[in-house]
Amino acid sequence: MGRGRIPGYLSYMARVVVIGGGVIGCAVAERLSFEGHRVTLLERDQLASRASGAAAGELSPQSTTAPAEEAAKQSLLLFPELIARIEKDSAMNVEYRVQAGLQPAFDQEEEARLRAAGGRWLDAQACRQAEPSLSTDVLGAVLLEHAHLTPPRFVRALARAAAAHGAAIHEGAPVMGLSAPAMRSTGSSRPPARTRPTGR
Ligand SMILES: Cc1cc2nc3c(=O)[nH]c(=O)nc-3n(C[C@H](O)[C@H](O)[C@H](O)COP(=O)(O)OP(=O)(O)OC[C@H]3O[C@@H](n4cnc5c(N)ncnc54)[C@H](O)[C@@H]3O)c2cc1C
Repeated sequence: MGRGRIPGYLSYMARVVVIGGGVIGCAVAERLSFEGHRVTLLERDQLASRASGAAAGELSPQSTTAPAEEAAKQSLLLFPELIARIEKDSAMNVEYRVQAGLQPAFDQEEEARLRAAGGRWLDAQACRQAEPSLSTDVLGAVLLEHAHLTPPRFVRALARAAAAHGAAIHEGAPVMGLSAPAMRSTGSSRPPARTRPTGR
């Protein structure tokens, strides 16, 4: 049972159908099932078989406006706690790690923008010492922390955690359409095989 589940509330909740077992669908299924909703996830192929299986796993949201930049920073701060919960509930290691990286500037405008964004600034000599293969044209660089994880493992772990909270996870279950009045999803003619997501 998810920690967010409120006793006696479950029977009033609608059943939720999540279409797609990429990182978004599995994260939605995990969160809703953690909060006590009755969730069914339908994935037409295999979990993480599309974009989420190809992703590099870099957690560095980019944004162009200040509020979005702030939201991105806040969301990154939530990751360590989320990862700890998902790894515990799924009994999987998603290979989350934080590494230092350099964001170099090659002209004055880039330097001003990077300096204004914050972070530790390294001058040209210091950043070439840290990364000798950097171009000699570099003016300096800001030292940033980059978080990574292994996307297919993260998706599987989210699905396993969702299943641990009671969600039904179906692979090989394409959704063929939605019937408007009741907004019910119509799946494939064959009944979906209920699978227990496995760690790979
Ligand atoms: C090469 C590459 C590298 C990337 N690197 C990064 C990175 O480093 N960091 C980062 O943040 N992002 C990265 N991304 C972007 C990231 O992968 C995507 O933003 C993310 O995976 C999208 O997740 P999703 O769940 O929305 O989509 P998907 O992973 O595509 O999942 C959608 C799922 O829905 C299923 N589906 C579709 N239609 C149906 C249907 N009718 N019925 C049932 N199931 C259906 C599909 O089979 C699929 O599994 C990268 C992307 C690529 C391609």
